[in-house]
Amino acid sequence: MIPREYITELVQRSDIVDVVESYVQLRRRGRTHTGLCPFHNEKTPSFVVYPETQSFYCFGCGAGGDVITFIKRINNVDYVEAVKFLAGRAGMPLPEEDDQTGRLRTRILGANKDAARFFFTSLNSDAGRFARAYWRGRGLTDSTIRRFGLGYAPDSFHETGDHLKRLGYTEEELIAAGLLKRSEKGSTFDFFRGRVMIPIFDLRGNVIAFSGRKLDPEQPGGKYVNSPETLAYKKSRTLFALNYAKKSAERRYLLCEGNLDAISMHQAGFPTAVAGCGTALTAEQVKLLSEYADEVVLCYDSDEAGQKATKRAIELLSASPLRVSVLKIPDAKDPDEFIKKFGADRFRTLLDGSDNAIEYELAQARARYDIAAPDGRLGYLRDAIGVLAGRVTPTERDVYAGRLAEETNVEKAAILAQLDGAIRARSRRAAKQREQALLSEGAGGRIRVPYSQGGQKALGVAFAEQQLVAAILKTPEFLSLVAPRLRGDAFLDAGLGRAYTLLCEKSARGEYLDLSAISEELPDETVSLIGRILAQNYDVGISERDVEMYLDRIENSRPVSSTAAGRSAEELAEYLQTLKQKKA
Ligand SMILES: [Zn+2]
Repeated sequence: MIPREYITELVQRSDIVDVVESYVQLRRRGRTHTGLCPFHNEKTPSFVVYPETQSFYCFGCGAGGDVITFIKRINNVDYVEAVKFLAGRAGMPLPEEDDQTGRLRTRILGANKDAARFFFTSLNSDAGRFARAYWRGRGLTDSTIRRFGLGYAPDSFHETGDHLKRLGYTEEELIAAGLLKRSEKGSTFDFFRGRVMIPIFDLRGNVIAFSGRKLDPEQPGGKYVNSPETLAYKKSRTLFALNYAKKSAERRYLLCEGNLDAISMHQAGFPTAVAGCGTALTAEQVKLLSEYADEVVLCYDSDEAGQKATKRAIELLSASPLRVSVLKIPDAKDPDEFIKKFGADRFRTLLDGSDNAIEYELAQARARYDIAAPDGRLGYLRDAIGVLAGRVTPTERDVYAGRLAEETNVEKAAILAQLDGAIRARSRRAAKQREQALLSEGAGGRIRVPYSQGGQKALGVAFAEQQLVAAILKTPEFLSLVAPRLRGDAFLDAGLGRAYTLLCEKSARGEYLDLSAISEELPDETVSLIGRILAQNYDVGISERDVEMYLDRIENSRPVSSTAAGRSAEELAEYLQTLKQKKA
């Protein structure tokens, strides 16, 4: 961990407006600065920098945080590298190299590498014969298995851990690496057991995580198990096989659904196949891709889940400079199956003929309607105009309108007029949404609360929690009011609860309180959330009276749910009845 005083000084010497200005052209607007967001593609500015709270927030894509977060995201580096970068810029000596976090990260990488070797050796041992059969059954050759370092985690609760401990790793280090897990009773056990293993590499070729697949479907546990996020592994910033793909001169990348699909494609002679790490595509992965690729072909499965993922990916990618197309796989459920059935050459033909994203969406729309019927034609036309609006250049607009006219028998001029109307309506709507977001103090609409935690009321509580965190960051003295009445573990939003707990701890140690004081220890989404909360409260004073009101709201919400929790269904019905009567 880098010393806190160092970060405080660094942040004081790195004014967020100055730093952001070297990447984004900012215009002053009152007490804030706005510009075009560097994290998503936009034509009207929704990216705002707030000098007083030294934070930023984009109302378009939700990116937000402090100056260190900004550098992390824009340079796609981790916390320590961002700090070093800012230190260089501010002319400060680099933080002590023997920092504990850096050392632990190195140990984690070492443990992962040794674990990968162990899994590879186990694969080739007697116990690994079923795992070997599994990989062969997937059509993988020995050289592919070696190249990707595939392995087998023995079906034991301690073999992997014991081996790594013998190599000198401590239990704490192995837990930090996600290789061991601690049980509720306090003992530790191997995280990956009886699974075929795929190591996940970073761009430099370090093993940063593992993905384990169940060998025996009868065995308990999920079909896939992935390493938890660690100091070395952030899944939203990782693309599987990118370390290999980046060596290829080809700029057309194939984005696959699973890492095994990507491996099969490499073996079949497609060296630019990459895959996400068990999550939907993220903006950070898109940014990473756009550093190496000009074009991305989406090669997801043809099932419903795959099609949903395709749609989401198109939305995300259409905000990037990358050309996007979608692979249609006839007579097979995924690329892997197609290649096995028809061979790599036919797959390449498929790739070369893959539709661009708009063509894909138009085809989807056409499939929803019976074009032979007048109603069907109109429905198709309406959806098609929705697809085209805001996405095409004037020339393309003309081409597509001509094609739609042929398909639907509606005059081209009429279609062009409708399309223009849709484009105007769309930009009006976008402008209005932006404005609303900018003015929105009633942030309730963007708070997500699990249903299980009680709908509307929970929304009010979640909002109160956000406002309290904002109040403390703006006026740290308020903490003395809040701390006796609110515990971090009682927060609905666990990330925000963690932020609050950190603020309490730092305050108890007499440290300076701001977003940079806690951002290192929080997940990115929480830092973004706090960026947004600060943005929404920038022009709003939060008084002592408000703070008490929010605390009251949170406290008042508690008795009902905790009284309700212990009741049977009948008792609960009766209880709700009495509540209703009381109200009446
Ligand atoms: Zn943005």
